[in-house]
Amino acid sequence: MIRAICPGSFDPVTLGHMDIFQRAVKIFDELYIGVFNNIRKTPLLPAEERIELLRQSVAGLSNVKVVACDGLLADYMLANDIRVIVRGLRSVTDYEYEQGQAQIIKSLHPELDTMFLLGKPEYNSYSSSVVREIIRFHGDYSRLVPHEVVEYLNEKNNRA
Ligand code: ADP
Repeated sequence: MIRAICPGSFDPVTLGHMDIFQRAVKIFDELYIGVFNNIRKTPLLPAEERIELLRQSVAGLSNVKVVACDGLLADYMLANDIRVIVRGLRSVTDYEYEQGQAQIIKSLHPELDTMFLLGKPEYNSYSSSVVREIIRFHGDYSRLVPHEVVEYLNEKNNRA
């Protein structure tokens, strides 16, 4: 039984993330999606809303658990018997950042591994930060995210 985790802030989840989840569930017995608060970014959506949107978006995938994480990723993994981190790569810039993260975790916890999936080229320019920017300027972001996100944010907007 091999458990893996896709960590991120998912603010909000995009089709680029969904592609990675859909492929990772086929490789591992159980996939955790760990929602972290990135201390370098002020979120658009509170963690509870990001988690709810992820849960709705992955409802059709089996053996996936969306969980709130705070603290260190490695500590969460050790406490929950998760051995592999799955990260999506869009570019060399992603790789350079990920290399440092993966090496630090490996040096501190040799029993943990990081695996990378190359994102689909058509999603290479998709990121949560691009979606957030489009939302701020009231543009159309519907092609970048699961439909659950569009519906939720439209409803939230109408209530405000
Ligand atoms: P972070 O909180 O580190 O900024 P994100 O929530 O933006 O993380 O993304 C989580 C993971 O999804 C990262 O591994 C990131 O590289 C990956 N990812 C994001 N967008 C895409 C995409 N379009 N294609 C492939 N992987 C992606």
